[in-house]
Amino acid sequence: MKTNQQSSNNKGKVYLVGAGPGDPGLITLRGKYLLQRAEVVVYDYLANKKLLNYVPESAEFIYAGKKGGGLHAFTQEGINQLLVDHAAAGKRVVRLKGGDPFIFGRGAEEIEQLVEAGIAFEVVPGVTSATAAATYAGIPITHRDYTASVAFVTGHEAPGKKESNIAWDKLATGAGTIVIYMGIKNLPIITRKLMDNGRAPDTPVAVVRWASTPKQHSVVGTLATITEVVQKEGVKPPALVIVGDVVKLRKSIDWFEKRPLFGKRMVVTRTREQASELVAKLEENGAACLEYSTIHIEPVDDYQLLDQAIADMDSYDWILFTSLNAITYFFKRLNITGRDSRALATCCIGAVGRATAGELLKYGIHADLVPEKFTGQGLAESLVAGGVAGKRILLPRALKAMETLPEMLTDAGAEVTVAPVYQNVPPQGRKDELREELTDGDIDVVTFTSSSTVTNFLTMVGADNEKELHQLLKGVKIAAIGPITAETVRKNGLRVDIQPDSYTIADMVDAIVDHYAPREG
Ligand code: SAH
Repeated sequence: MKTNQQSSNNKGKVYLVGAGPGDPGLITLRGKYLLQRAEVVVYDYLANKKLLNYVPESAEFIYAGKKGGGLHAFTQEGINQLLVDHAAAGKRVVRLKGGDPFIFGRGAEEIEQLVEAGIAFEVVPGVTSATAAATYAGIPITHRDYTASVAFVTGHEAPGKKESNIAWDKLATGAGTIVIYMGIKNLPIITRKLMDNGRAPDTPVAVVRWASTPKQHSVVGTLATITEVVQKEGVKPPALVIVGDVVKLRKSIDWFEKRPLFGKRMVVTRTREQASELVAKLEENGAACLEYSTIHIEPVDDYQLLDQAIADMDSYDWILFTSLNAITYFFKRLNITGRDSRALATCCIGAVGRATAGELLKYGIHADLVPEKFTGQGLAESLVAGGVAGKRILLPRALKAMETLPEMLTDAGAEVTVAPVYQNVPPQGRKDELREELTDGDIDVVTFTSSSTVTNFLTMVGADNEKELHQLLKGVKIAAIGPITAETVRKNGLRVDIQPDSYTIADMVDAIVDHYAPREG
């Protein structure tokens, strides 16, 4: 007999992984681990594409969605064969499926074929959309005071058909909460069946579309009214139908759709490396973020100047860090030259703001100076106030940057070494997508966290003149992190709508939240 162990001498294996309901944060640690090691990934329409960012670029990506068509819409048999073929060729194949692979996911059918072919496999469960939809709609799927049972049902199978596998007569009153997958098309028949079989017509019902994503849309009614509500509100698949008294609790528990930025779409223009904090904070407040890396950070071609400075480190009085990238690239180079933080033992260290000071802590360094005003000018002013005449100051920074800081220090009598450690290059691609989003009026806010994000964004949008630019950004609010970024926005003929008093990501997010949901007082 063929068993799961048979191909243990062949490294080819299929991992059937539940992607969770939609929010990429809801995948399991095991699922993420496997994605990071995948050689082939076969993914579905319902699996969030953001999860593919975990997969190595060298892997083969195969879209097996049965929805959305495209060139490669596979049949179930086609998918089964695909998994067998790639695993037989010795590959680590991740089959990524929406929700849980074994809940209305045809996961078992894919496994059966693997067993047949003697291919090793593993199944990783996922958060199924039923529990996610309920939770994210503020509905506890069970509750001591309301129900002690819940049933998951497919609504795909028309209840009218003779060979139905669902005993609607027993189900109608047999389960406290009933959650129906794929039930939108047959909603009129399903609700009728439940009522005809004894469930009260005034039983509350919720329908939740695109649960746990920024597109989530929930509507509520009763068994008697929900069909009409769904039609009127234009709720389409993918959606879940939740039937039962627990739906009443949504009134007080609804949290996801109540967040201040829910339903707002924001462009985040940051470096790929740094986008995460801003995106995480905006998303926590409910915003949908479109990440455009208008800047790509690369090492510089020539490190001679920095290497020389590192060799002479003891001769410097100060070393100043004005960006996270400067810190990252400086320490990378320090490491390459065979040295570490101890090389900085004899000089004082200045950081431009709270974030850079925090980053330095990762290298075991407490900044000696963080100015009150988090700008290059602020840093220069604090230093000059303490006296810099005759001091040797090292400034590792971007190849192209503002000259304010070194100029002010030089004017005050310091000897400044500007050592380029990284450069900003505008990345190509996704330009059309961004323009389309703007043209369609789908964007609420564009965020800028530095002057170069502004200029690179404008290059990327590629408007020929100011009129076209205004047309594209009509109705879009612009958020700038601080005065220098704001100045660059204005210089380009645009208006700044949102600007925090303090120049940090957290304050910028607060300012955006205040803009949309002003706090009382
Ligand atoms: N294996 C999946 C279900 C696949 S069947 C799981 O465990 O969740 C496809 C159906 O799942 C859809 O028609 C819809 O009813 C439901 N579904 C999946 N993701 C959903 C989501 N994010 N929001 C609402 N319904 C979803």
